[in-house]
Amino acid sequence: MDYSVIADSYEKIEATTKRLEMTDYLVDLLSKTPKEVFSKVVYLTQGKLYPDFMGVEMGVAEKLAIRALARASGQSESAILADLQRSGDIGETSEKLLAKRKQSTFFSVKLTVERVYETLDKLAKTQGSGAVDTKLALLSGLLSDATPKEAKWLIRTVTGNLRLGIADMTVLDALAIAYGGGKDARELIERAYNISSDLGRVASVVCEKGLDGIKKFQVMVFEPIRPMLAERLGAPEEILEKFGGKCIAEYKYDGERVQAHKKNGKVVLFSRRLENISDQYPDAVDLIREQVAANEAILEAECVAVDLETGDMRPFQELMHRRRKYGVEAAIEQYPISLFTFDALYVDGKDLTQEAFPLRRKSLEKIIKQSDRIKPATQKLITNPKALEDFFEEAIEEGCEGLMCKSVGKDSVYQAGSRGWLWIKYKRDYRSEMTDTVDLVVVGAFHGRGKRVGTYGALLLATYNEENDTFETVTKCGTGFTDKDLATLRDMMQKHVIPRKNSRVQSMLEADVWFEPAVVLEILGAEITLSPIHMAAMDSIRKGSGLAIRFPRFTGKYRTDKAPEDATTSKEIVEMYRGQLKKIGESTQP
Ligand code: ATP
Repeated sequence: MDYSVIADSYEKIEATTKRLEMTDYLVDLLSKTPKEVFSKVVYLTQGKLYPDFMGVEMGVAEKLAIRALARASGQSESAILADLQRSGDIGETSEKLLAKRKQSTFFSVKLTVERVYETLDKLAKTQGSGAVDTKLALLSGLLSDATPKEAKWLIRTVTGNLRLGIADMTVLDALAIAYGGGKDARELIERAYNISSDLGRVASVVCEKGLDGIKKFQVMVFEPIRPMLAERLGAPEEILEKFGGKCIAEYKYDGERVQAHKKNGKVVLFSRRLENISDQYPDAVDLIREQVAANEAILEAECVAVDLETGDMRPFQELMHRRRKYGVEAAIEQYPISLFTFDALYVDGKDLTQEAFPLRRKSLEKIIKQSDRIKPATQKLITNPKALEDFFEEAIEEGCEGLMCKSVGKDSVYQAGSRGWLWIKYKRDYRSEMTDTVDLVVVGAFHGRGKRVGTYGALLLATYNEENDTFETVTKCGTGFTDKDLATLRDMMQKHVIPRKNSRVQSMLEADVWFEPAVVLEILGAEITLSPIHMAAMDSIRKGSGLAIRFPRFTGKYRTDKAPEDATTSKEIVEMYRGQLKKIGESTQP
């Protein structure tokens, strides 16, 4: 397959901001893609070579890209830099400069998708001494044979600046249209994705085996399952009512979510974002290897910092010390952890995701060899509000955040990749006004003045709208940032700056700087109000109004464990708004 087919599609996709049109162009591209390269094309359109959980990055720094471009175009590095300063986009600069190439490309070979993929794959895997030279040779080789337009997309791909705005959900839509039609097909394909987190594998199964293949799609050890998430409610009565009067309540531990995969003695731990975090928790790896009595298993647990002497749980922040490349050994000593397992998704050849929760829990209990360091989450069957409240107090007393209430009905399956009412969280904070925190996506910024010149004065923050796959502004936040935070943020956001508003961002405000949605911050607000200028949940409470968070303050927590799509959703803001109204109503009653 010619790479120019991909480049042409990207041009069209880039030119539209409408999701439906984007999907149509993607369907068109997929229909032109032969099955041998199907998964490769899917990965490439997302700027990847493999699914995220494999952790393979192309990792070409801009400097290296400039050198490769210099070689291929015959221009000097300083000329390239000068043009880059003007355009702000290395893709555009590549296209322009390669078009000026003196030597004709008469002898060059047409670029194929196969060659591009294989070369990029080699490039990603080249390490050690001499790596830079090898990478340079690989990249300039490709660029020499590329047309200017192809070069633009190649460079954007390798430098991580593809920014087509094609979300996973758009790819799933396109696959369903291209191969199955209808809504049923979409659901089946999405489920396959939710239990594998691998769009490429899903795509090639759809392409080669059709919907029958997708129906037989299986959970596989070492392929992370997208996590099931909880809704939230603020009162025991409401929770029990949702569950028809009966539920299991579990301690809601305050640590880091870990999905543990084990097979033949090998263990891999995935984070909530499905990144491989085994290196951060070698002690947890050992616990799973030694104290899970199954040859193959996929389990979920909360990994909690603990004081080994007293057995007390420690604050979540202590786990941050594990997020380092070097010195993990020392951090293990200083900040030990325990695992509280709360679900079993797969055990010795059996996929449990479609089983009801009580059965999954039984399987979990069967395989955990309990000790102080690993045990199933403490739980209780609850049938009345008073018991729920008492158990909640007990959980808080033990150092937990509150309770996770879970359905015990026949339909209490593991809903991979979705937030639903089968799990409901109950935390103390929800009981008063809006003192609960939310996790918001940074989509824009306003320049700082006075003391903050050179850094950001305020950030434009957004919630995630799952239905439209968009990010909707909900507040402007300039409070709670220390000088160090401001410097960190400036550096952190630099690589996400884009020249225009991202097509997935919904905003009426004009920010000074726009970012692609990437960074999630924890924010504490005072209240939620109707707003004519913010877009969160627009029209859902009142026509022409969105919702806004008032008096926001950054809590200091960078939610690096969350992808932008994991941020607080607009729907959740609506629920919090409604909950808050009810509370105000109650307290003003005589
Ligand atoms: P969410 O994960 O729902 O988007 P969040 O990351 O802000 O939100 P919380 O709202 O505090 O986290 O609650 C969900 C998290 O609680 C889970 O992702 C999991 O890490 C943790 N947790 C702790 N104990 C349990 C338990 N017994 N069952 C399920 N999850 C638990």
